[in-house]
Amino acid sequence: MLRVAEAVERTDTGRQRDANEDSYFARAPVFAVADGMGGARAGEVASRIAVDAFEPERDSSLQPERYLEQTAHAANLAIFERAKGDETRSGMGTTLTSAVLDGDSLSIGHVGDSRAYLFRDGELTQLTRDHSLVEEWRRQGRLTAEQAEAHPQRSIITRALGPEPEVEVDTFTLTARDGDLFLLCSDGLTTMVPDGDLGSLLGSGGTLDQLSRRLIDAANERGGRDNITVVLFRLASSDREAAPASEDATLVGVAAEREGFSAEAVRAGAREPAGVGVPTTTRRAAAPAASDDDGPGARRWISRTIVGLLIAAALVAAAYFGLRQVYFIGTDEGNRIALFRGLPYDLPLGIDLYSERSSAPIMLDDVPEDRRSVVVDHELRSYDDAVSLIEDLEKTTREAQDAAEAAAQSQSPTAPGSGGPSSAGGSGSGSSGGGEAPAGSDGGGAGG
Ligand code: CA
Repeated sequence: MLRVAEAVERTDTGRQRDANEDSYFARAPVFAVADGMGGARAGEVASRIAVDAFEPERDSSLQPERYLEQTAHAANLAIFERAKGDETRSGMGTTLTSAVLDGDSLSIGHVGDSRAYLFRDGELTQLTRDHSLVEEWRRQGRLTAEQAEAHPQRSIITRALGPEPEVEVDTFTLTARDGDLFLLCSDGLTTMVPDGDLGSLLGSGGTLDQLSRRLIDAANERGGRDNITVVLFRLASSDREAAPASEDATLVGVAAEREGFSAEAVRAGAREPAGVGVPTTTRRAAAPAASDDDGPGARRWISRTIVGLLIAAALVAAAYFGLRQVYFIGTDEGNRIALFRGLPYDLPLGIDLYSERSSAPIMLDDVPEDRRSVVVDHELRSYDDAVSLIEDLEKTTREAQDAAEAAAQSQSPTAPGSGGPSSAGGSGSGSSGGGEAPAGSDGGGAGG
């Protein structure tokens, strides 16, 4: 029998965010990390609902994977319902990565791009696979692991709790061992600190408290662009006898059997490299109970398959099928920098695939020239990325304006009586057309 010998949890806002939208739950033998998203602090609400779903105490008659799955489903519905009743929170969502120890088995439940890792015998293994666009592309061979790690769109996720009334939850179970160290974390850690460094840090010795501080410090030293949450727990044998350890982590469970995995196939899957474990990979293709029929299960499957086939078509489909976590930056009708949700395309018949969420008090013409490309390229971004980029553009523009003003003042000590550039009429006239669509609207209305 194994027990949780030591556990520690720590969360940090990071260096660039004003608020922390991560939440965690840590009450041995149950642990969870949730990373919320959505404007106006809705992400905070969503991630909080997700971890609160682990209250009250676990019904131990429930099989562990079922317990994690049911809890995620309950949280999903609660977030969805809350968002429905509140305009400011529409579209809010969260990731949820959870774990429960039961005897010698550790079960994981997973949605989104937070992660679970196992550190065993000096080696770090990623147990979960991100539900993200970049991870899909990496699996299809479009990106190498290194490209994926640094990809600007890496935080666009393809599955979350909250945006839809139903969600598919990855669950699997592995046989744990005396001494195993588990890490659950939000992407604020993993986008800043590559796996190789995570492994070195976890192997650097000391208490879990010290390790958790080192992890968070490492993310902050590399920029701390996002909220950082880590939950660490170490297992020990409760009778201190050498556990009859199996050769490899073995994935077992009712859910795997239900999906038609033989014990052998499951064991083979456990030996595959990190992130390609059997239950998550194969169940996804096989999973929705009615995948041969139409219906909500089929719909989820379709949206992901198309993503795999053709990026553009996939994104369009995804927009319809509920991939609402995609944003881009453009300009509004007044040529101000604006945040749009959706995809930067107009379809024939006047269908826009985007909607404006907010605009910033800066004009495109005022943005330093070398930064304008990020506004006009309409690259797809996560909400968080888009917002920090707009904040950064605002800051850069303001600094450039201040510098220009200071330079002008030092040139001519006598301040111009009034007017200023606005009445001077000279340089900044801008293009008269103004109302530029945020996107290269290929379809207009005429297309067919
Ligand atoms: Ca995050």
